Amino acid sequence: MSFSAVVVAAGAGARAGPGEPKAWRDVGGRALVRWSVEGLLSAGAREVIVVVARDRLSDADAALEGLKGWKAVTGGKTRAESVQAGLAALTGRRDQPVLIHDAARPFVTREHVDRLLAALELADGAIPVLPVPDTLKRGEGLVEATISRESLWRAQTPQAFRIGRIKAAYRRWPTGEKPTDDASVMERAGGHVAMTPGDPLLMKLTYPQDFLMAEQLAAGRRILRVGQGIDAHRFGPGDVVWLGGIRIEHDLGLVGHSDADCGLHALTDAVLGAIGDGDIGEHFPPTDPRWKGASSDQFLTYAVGRVAAQGGRILSADLTLICERPKIGPHRQAMRERIADLLGLPVHRVSVKATTTEGMGFTGRGEGLMAQAIVSVETPL
Ligand code: MG
Repeated sequence: MSFSAVVVAAGAGARAGPGEPKAWRDVGGRALVRWSVEGLLSAGAREVIVVVARDRLSDADAALEGLKGWKAVTGGKTRAESVQAGLAALTGRRDQPVLIHDAARPFVTREHVDRLLAALELADGAIPVLPVPDTLKRGEGLVEATISRESLWRAQTPQAFRIGRIKAAYRRWPTGEKPTDDASVMERAGGHVAMTPGDPLLMKLTYPQDFLMAEQLAAGRRILRVGQGIDAHRFGPGDVVWLGGIRIEHDLGLVGHSDADCGLHALTDAVLGAIGDGDIGEHFPPTDPRWKGASSDQFLTYAVGRVAAQGGRILSADLTLICERPKIGPHRQAMRERIADLLGLPVHRVSVKATTTEGMGFTGRGEGLMAQAIVSVETPL
């Protein structure tokens, strides 16, 4: 389901100890705020509004570099004002869902988002909650009372609402009072807020020791994904073929709508496959005149951009070309270098191999040429 998101990163986070405000601190090699934005984008957010303090717009540019679909706006003096600044910047329709999230909870995933959106179907708001495991006491120095934990829950974020309803609820909130979360604003306006199972991993980083724990957890929050691509093109009249981004003189050409670079097409499909993002034909329809005779490096560059847009990173590529002719060996190193350049990888992470089919099949008979590619990618969980 299509949804928008507001990530609040404008707080000072005084309890986290001296140093940079929380959102800009490094956790596992990336700014804290980047974790949430990547998590929401890879969960399918159509737009993410990041609310930052007035002097932090350039920090947002640096921390979120390469991601697509986010915009930073400046917040207000309180969290409530910042949330409202974020809501005002949304472009989604009134009835569309918005997830409001604290940047201090870095480990949000598609699973969390899906649960909230499902619960929002039946309520005016939906929030993740956890039970209270510890016994609760009230007092100052001495215990005055023990409080029953029954029906008590800890509220986390993201919290889900319809854009129009939560904006209206904030307009009705009494000035001077400070809500501690967005659900309480919806509750005060008379809305029904559903509780969904929370997750200890949605913990809020508050104290210095929370950052140490997050650092340990961060290592397991990126996953390795692998994509495969296969392509074939028929030989036809001509005197040159494009393969692996390299021009090769030959006594035949390859037939195709674009430049028919079988190797780059297989790699493009492998990159898209690794992130579950369709295939080359879906993004570049062969019926579209724009791609007639097109240089295939732009297809691969586009696919690499799709990975980067959701916070992913390409790790390695392995391409196999299957043909009797032309001979690949003399061009192998040039192909590796060109592909490495397109993928943004060092050459040693790119492999180009060639094989024949011993005269068998369409490649053996010289009717056409085939390519297979495998690409590995690291993405948010
Ligand atoms: Mg092709």
